[in-house]
Amino acid sequence: MSSSSSDASAASAASAASAAKHEAHRAANPGAQVDNAFDRLRWRNRFVALAPEFGTRLAPTPLPDPYLVATSASAAALLDLPSDAFADAASVATMAGRVPRGAEPMAAVYSGHQFGVWAGQLGDGRAHLLGGVDTKQGLIELQLKGAGETPYSRMGDGRAVLRSSIREFLCSEAMHGLGIPTTRALAIVGSAQPVVRETVETAAIVLRMAPSFVRFGSFEHWLSRHRPDLSKRLADHVVDTFYPECRDAGDPYAALLAAVTVRTARLMAQWQAVGFCHGVMNTDNMSILGLTLDYGPFGFLDAFDANHICNHTDQQGRYAYSRQPAVARWNCYCLAEALMPLIDDVERAEASLAPFEPVFGEAMDAALHAKLGLATTLPTDQGLIDALFALLQDSHADFTVFFRRLCDFDAPDAARGAPGGLARDLFIDRERFNAWSVDYRSRLAQEPRDATARQVAMRAVNPKYVLRNHLAEAAIVQARAGDYREVQRLNAILARPFDEQPEAAAYAALPPAWASHLEVSCSS
Ligand code: AMP
Ligand code: MG
Repeated sequence: MSSSSSDASAASAASAASAAKHEAHRAANPGAQVDNAFDRLRWRNRFVALAPEFGTRLAPTPLPDPYLVATSASAAALLDLPSDAFADAASVATMAGRVPRGAEPMAAVYSGHQFGVWAGQLGDGRAHLLGGVDTKQGLIELQLKGAGETPYSRMGDGRAVLRSSIREFLCSEAMHGLGIPTTRALAIVGSAQPVVRETVETAAIVLRMAPSFVRFGSFEHWLSRHRPDLSKRLADHVVDTFYPECRDAGDPYAALLAAVTVRTARLMAQWQAVGFCHGVMNTDNMSILGLTLDYGPFGFLDAFDANHICNHTDQQGRYAYSRQPAVARWNCYCLAEALMPLIDDVERAEASLAPFEPVFGEAMDAALHAKLGLATTLPTDQGLIDALFALLQDSHADFTVFFRRLCDFDAPDAARGAPGGLARDLFIDRERFNAWSVDYRSRLAQEPRDATARQVAMRAVNPKYVLRNHLAEAAIVQARAGDYREVQRLNAILARPFDEQPEAAAYAALPPAWASHLEVSCSS
C-alpha cells in the first residue's frame, strides 16, 4: 500500500498554510523582506508534512553578525546556482538562521545506541531542517547545523564551533570528491559569538544538504515509544521516496532492511578503501540512505594501523578503523530490531541482514583489487593482499602515500634501482617489501592490461589528496585568525583528489611530525 498520494495532498495543504504564516511573519517583520537566493528556491517541505510527531517546528536562533567562511561550488551546482549566489549579506543572514521564504524549519526527533549502549531520545539538538528544495536530482533537504537550541538539545547549547564546522564542511565535500556517498555541505558561516568547549571558541553554522537526514535512530525511536504506526509512516515515506523497488517485494519493510543493509555494507568498503575512520558510528549517525553522516572526530589514516582510533573520546576503540564494518553490521541489527513490528518475522529479518557480509566482502575485495591494479582475480590474490597489509601494519607505512606510489610501481626508477620504486621507501623492512614486490610483479605479469592502462586505472582509485587532520588543522588555525582562503583552497584541492595537482604537491606529502599529536574528540 502506498501512502504517497495522501502524503502529497497533506504536504500541499501544510505548505499553503505555512506560506500564509510566513507572509504574515514577513509583513510583521520588515527585516525579513530581503529577497535572496534561498528565498527564490522552490521549497517543498515533504518531511515536515509527514507527521507532527517526527519533530518540532521551530525557527533557528540566528547568529549575530555572521560572516561567510566558505562555499562549495559543486554543492551549489546541485541547486543550479554558482557558489557566489550565497555571498551577499542577505544569503549569509539566512545561513546564519534567518528563515527563508517557503522554508518550514523543524528539528527532528530520533533516538539511538551510543557506543553500544541504548541512549534513549536524542534528536536534532543543534540542527534545523529548513525544508526541501526541488532540484534536477530530486528533492534535496537543507539543514543548518549549529543554529541554536531545540527541544532535543539536552545539556547542549545548540551551537557548533568554527573548528568542527570547517572539518564537517571540508570532509563532506572531500568524500563527495572521492565518490563516496555522503551528506553535502553548501557553506559555512561564522560569528564572533563565543561558544564554550574545552576552551572558549566561536560559533559557526554549516548548511548541509541530503535527500534525507533520516537515521537508523529515527526508527529506533518509534520502537522505544511503542508506536508501530509511526514506524510504518516513516518506513512508508522512506520506501516510497528512496527505495520504490521495495514496494513490489512481498514484504516491503524486509526489502527496505535488505536494501539499507546492502548500501551500508558497500559504504563500509568505500570507507575502508580510502582509510576513512568515522569515529562515532552510533546508530543515530547512520543514514537510512547509506550516506556518510555527521562528521565529528573523523580521520583519514596517515600511518597504517588497523587498530587506529581516530576519536580521542573512544577509549575502548569501539570505532577503530578495523572494526567499522562489524560495527556497521551491528547497527544494521539495531535497525532490524526497530523494524521488527513491521516485518514481524524473525527469519525474514535475518534473511534481510544476511547480505551484509557477502556484499561487504565482495565490495572490499573489488576495491582492493582495484587499488592494486588487478583487473582479474586469482585464488592467490588473497595471500598477496594479506601479506601487503601485514607489511603496511608492521612498518606503519602511510596508507594514502603508499597506494599512490604503488601506481608508479613499474615506472623507470633507474637512479634508485629499487624494486617497487618510491613505494619501497615507506617500509622499515625493505627486504620483506622486496620479496613482496617479486610476488606482485609476477602477479602483474598475469594481467591482460598493459602497465599504462593499469596505472591510469590505479590513479583513479588511489587518491593523491585526502583530508588529513593536519591539513584541516592548518585551515582552522588560519580561519580563526580571520583568513578563510586556506579553507577554500583545501576544498578546491580535495574536490579533485585523484588528479595530479603539481601546485598542490605539499598537500599530498607525508604528514609532519606534529600531526601524530593532534587529538580529535567528540567536542564540537
Ligand atoms: P553526535 O554524536 O555529535 O552526532 O551528537 C549526538 C547528539 O547530541 C545529537 O542528538 C546532537 O544533536 C546532540 N548534540 C551534540 N552537540 C550538541 C550541542 N552543542 N547542543 C545541542 N545538542 C548537541
Ligand atoms: Mg549525530
